[in-house]
Amino acid sequence: MRRTVTLMLCVFLAAFIFVGCTQETEPDPINGVFEGTSGGFQGPVTVSITVENSEITDIEIVESSETAHVVKVAVERIPTQIIENQSVAVDSVTGATATSYAVISAVTNAAQAAGLDIDALKANKVGYTPKDPQTWDTDVLVIGAGGAGLTAAITAADQGAKVILIEKSSILGGNSLVAGSAYNAVDLEAQENVMELTGAQKDAMDSYLALDPADPGLKFDAYPEWEPVLEELKNDINAFYARNTGKKIGVDMPGFDSVALHMWHIYTGGLRQLTDGSWLAPNVELARTLASESLNAFKWMGEVGLESSYGADTKYGTRDGLGTVLGAMWPRTHSFMTGALRIPHLESVALDKGVTIYTETKGTELLVDGSGKVVGAKAEQIDGTQITINTANGVVLASGGYCANPTMVKEYDKYWGDDLSDRTLSTNLGTNEGDGIVMAIAIGADVTGMEVAQMMPSSSPVKGTMTDGIWGDAAEQIWIDGNGNRFVDEYAERDVLAKASLALEDSIFYIIYAGRGDVGNPDQLLQGVEYSERIEGIVEGGHVWYGKNLAELAEATKTPKAGVAPAFDEAQLRATIELYNSYVAAQKDDDFGKRVIAGAIDLDYLEANDDVGLVISPRKSSLHHTMGGVAIDTDTRVLDTSGNAIPGLWAAGEVTGGIHAGNRLGGNAIADIFVFGRIAGTNAGSGN
Ligand code: ADP
Repeated sequence: MRRTVTLMLCVFLAAFIFVGCTQETEPDPINGVFEGTSGGFQGPVTVSITVENSEITDIEIVESSETAHVVKVAVERIPTQIIENQSVAVDSVTGATATSYAVISAVTNAAQAAGLDIDALKANKVGYTPKDPQTWDTDVLVIGAGGAGLTAAITAADQGAKVILIEKSSILGGNSLVAGSAYNAVDLEAQENVMELTGAQKDAMDSYLALDPADPGLKFDAYPEWEPVLEELKNDINAFYARNTGKKIGVDMPGFDSVALHMWHIYTGGLRQLTDGSWLAPNVELARTLASESLNAFKWMGEVGLESSYGADTKYGTRDGLGTVLGAMWPRTHSFMTGALRIPHLESVALDKGVTIYTETKGTELLVDGSGKVVGAKAEQIDGTQITINTANGVVLASGGYCANPTMVKEYDKYWGDDLSDRTLSTNLGTNEGDGIVMAIAIGADVTGMEVAQMMPSSSPVKGTMTDGIWGDAAEQIWIDGNGNRFVDEYAERDVLAKASLALEDSIFYIIYAGRGDVGNPDQLLQGVEYSERIEGIVEGGHVWYGKNLAELAEATKTPKAGVAPAFDEAQLRATIELYNSYVAAQKDDDFGKRVIAGAIDLDYLEANDDVGLVISPRKSSLHHTMGGVAIDTDTRVLDTSGNAIPGLWAAGEVTGGIHAGNRLGGNAIADIFVFGRIAGTNAGSGN
């Protein structure tokens, strides 16, 4: 009997299990390799996932045009976290947010293709657990590891100081990583030995000699400290003419530059009226420091191993000439390693000198002792761990500007008005949100020049970045509106360029470029760019149209790029270029007064030769560089609202204000971070 019951129970259980199995059958384990794609910052990101027994065991990025050195932490950490936790609910990585989301959603799409349970993959949120609060002791703390911060850290360590450098992002470099390599420095030996003065430059010099200090437009009533600079400039020009009596332009007349001329450009380039009628002018002492120290800082950069056009081993006769980056106002632009190369190099120099670097560590508050001295800062790490950093000497603020925080830009703005909104795009990486300025204000620091942020005119209309387009020397570019007409002096200051372009329909303009010539040589006709791999890359992946001649170029512009298709008319393009060519030949721009005008395009040559062509790129202004920031003196000591230096607090780079006032010259930002970064590091390192 008992046997029978047991047997019946077994039959019953077997039936139950069988019934259960038919209703809730374990799905067959999924195995295989599946692909998924999603939109990243620079284009599609495609991943392949390996699935074994319904688990993601491997993730590979198979296609991506993201900037490798910017997204390196994101593309390593996110796949690792997804695999470890079998979850796509992972955090984005600071500094590479768009790419992080692209990887997460590409993996999700691949998982969907595999038939994995997406709800389960999304349910398990991967969080961080903070470690116990920590206290670190050091001589100098540098907040922000862009160009200014790395330079300050290196030079502070050179003083024998123990240095900690903290960086909010997952990668070092900030804007200095993505900025170009244009570096302005007054370089008399290059002017004397390599450069030639052009007719347009001589006209400009003569116009400086003719300036009357009583002219109200010079604003010497409000800024009398700038009057002696004009006197100094006139003396420099007269001395140059005296030195070169009998020499002829285009034959044997060398180039000209001087500290006073660079300062004059900083003054006139930066003197701006605000919407409330008040004026903003550069601080004359800071401008002098920048103009007189930038060549020394450039040489220092060579000493620490940053390769540059200075050509350390070459005698001046064989070194590169100087260019004029957009908005630089004079050919004094040197070049050196790009951000992608210079930042890792500076990092390795800093590490060699014993600097301790922490990424994903955000400075949150400055600490002040009873005497008012800054004695450290509080910081928070990505996992929420709270750190107190005590400093013997003090803190260098090098946290950059706040263009990635358009709300803050808009809050202070007294320049752009309705041309600016809190959704205006930016060239910046996302971490430059003004933290250092906010921290400094909280302990009584003064700020200056916050009313103006610089717009970069030649940015991507859809991303705001400086990528996807074409760059060339300002002297050689032709800018046109949607009807194919020039609308501005392309050699003007950046805000002038931005304002003129923002007034156009949809605020979009177009740059025509036909190859780099011997800049400043008006006799040289541009004979086009070859359809090289690089050009092909930006034509196919970016916002650039290419044509072997004007007819082809006009035709190409019927295909939309960056959301626009201007469909230029060949005859109109030809008329605009021929008029521009005539201005180059005459060295006189009757329409917009372009001061240094070159780059006449040889249309006949382009017609006859199929191996070269010309390009056009749509561009739009986006937020680029905040002019204002904490007030400093020439020793980079941060000043309080009464004008006194706050002990133990230095600042350098874009976090500071006062140097560029209403408009920074192109090529002066990188000079700024190295010049003032060195001063800040040296002073903080020695505790002075
Ligand atoms: P600069 O040109 O003045 O050197 P960058 O933009 O190159 O400025 O670098 C500024 C750096 O400061 C960026 O890498 C940015 O992520 C970092 N940063 C911004 N805010 C903080 C903060 N609160 N703590 C640490 N680093 C910060």
